Amino acid sequence: MELSLLTVCYLIGSLTFIIGLKMLSHPDSARKGNLVAAVGMTIAILGTIFLYEEEGKKLGNYSWIFGGLFLGTVIGVLAAKKVKMTAMPEMVSLFNGMGGACAALISVNEFGHISKMLTVSTADIPGWHTTIIVSPEESVNMIGMVITIFLGLIIGTVSFAGSMIAWGKLNGKVKDFAFPGQQVFNLILLAGTLITAGYLAFNLTANNVILFYIIAIASLIYGVLFVLPIGGADMPVVISLLNSFTGVAAACGGFLYDNQVMLTGGILVGAAGTLLTILMCKAMNRSLTNVLIGSFGGNKSSASAAQTGPQGNYKEISLSDAAVCMCYANKVIIVPGYGLAVAQAQHVCHELEKLLEEKGVNVSYAIHPVAGRMPGHMNVLLAEADVSYDKLQEMEQANDEFKTTDVVLVLGANDVVNPAAKTDASSPIYGMPILEVEQAKTVIVNKRSMKPGYAGIENELFFQPKTSMLFGDAKAALQKLVAEIKSL
Ligand code: NDP
Repeated sequence: MELSLLTVCYLIGSLTFIIGLKMLSHPDSARKGNLVAAVGMTIAILGTIFLYEEEGKKLGNYSWIFGGLFLGTVIGVLAAKKVKMTAMPEMVSLFNGMGGACAALISVNEFGHISKMLTVSTADIPGWHTTIIVSPEESVNMIGMVITIFLGLIIGTVSFAGSMIAWGKLNGKVKDFAFPGQQVFNLILLAGTLITAGYLAFNLTANNVILFYIIAIASLIYGVLFVLPIGGADMPVVISLLNSFTGVAAACGGFLYDNQVMLTGGILVGAAGTLLTILMCKAMNRSLTNVLIGSFGGNKSSASAAQTGPQGNYKEISLSDAAVCMCYANKVIIVPGYGLAVAQAQHVCHELEKLLEEKGVNVSYAIHPVAGRMPGHMNVLLAEADVSYDKLQEMEQANDEFKTTDVVLVLGANDVVNPAAKTDASSPIYGMPILEVEQAKTVIVNKRSMKPGYAGIENELFFQPKTSMLFGDAKAALQKLVAEIKSL
């Protein structure tokens, strides 16, 4: 009776997770989707705590469980309330790392049970699973279980270590690092870890249990070395890949515990993360193999950063000229970037859009898939300011539109509009599809200085004859622009 109620709880958890994920795909329903999935997960967690039984015994340990839940909730709520929109990717990385660590700890815990059985029943006997388990089916189950434990351990640990390094890199505390032959070393380390795990699954004895912990340490080192050399414009792909790793590691936990909701959740996160990784790879023109070997972008980026410094002449535009230019245009496309997020200028940007529309100008937004510091950063920001979703154009669509656009207003974006991605084979962002704003009649770029963006490289767009610079903080500049347009 109780078990079936528990199954219903898991079914609700799984269904709400799927419905929530679907709702997340549109800004209008995203908040509700998050809530729906969270309610479902709470039901599944409470069901496990109060209804789950093993050999007629409930979980117990309630003070530990609720103590942990309380602590986690307080930390989670405070972190989410305090985090700045621009620091969101760091938080995503950190939380993702915690998910990986949880999955790895499940494996450590389960392996503890198996190794106890080994010490009690067998030692040094090949075919360990046939000696401690009676029936052949159980023997097969046992090997399957150990393989799952190893997968959860390796994937979870790599995800934890990699996410911690990604977190450090995003907040600037960890610098790019690579040594000669690192790609080969990484591959050998990974292959060695997998082969040892495979061997151990079939030849576990009380004497070689230590190899389990060596596998854990090797996975930790691999996770660190895999992310350390990656830098510049390539971080989004890595973050999303690590996210999918955590999903797969959590699914291994679900398999071990025969827990449907954990399995569904893990598979969905793994699949969504993999799809996002592929989309991001496409958006940045990188192959997935390149990401897995773990050395692209970083060195080139820092090398190019060293050669930066304004090259050529650029021209400035006054606020009143910018206002006139935009008011008398037929079509204006706004390109938001990381600087818009830093300045929290999304609300005043929406005000500018409404003002121009009232004057008969057709206004839309061009969204680059990696603008900002996390996937979907700009969509979330603009949705927060109530910008209509219909006004957002994806990169391919926007690139068709620029030719017939009078004014492009670039707001705190840099790398995503850098033509070097198409023209300079030595550039670290070479090959990354960009928003081809230079095709419009006039380009106005708002930023605070001539400093480079995330990839640390010069942007020739700023020196082109059709480009004018409007210097200043995005929010302050837009507020003045709005005031100027109102006075026209
Ligand atoms: P960039 O980081 O290339 O450029 C942002 C520009 O904004 C800077 O040049 C800066 O110039 C300007 N800026 C900063 N603060 C302000 C402000 N207050 N007001 C006005 N301007 C400001 O941003 P993009 O969005 O063009 O590109 C994103 C980059 O981040 C890409 O390289 C991408 O690969 C990378 N990335 C993306 C992730 C994602 O998932 N989306 C994750 C991690 C990295 P100045 O200092 O002169 O003002």
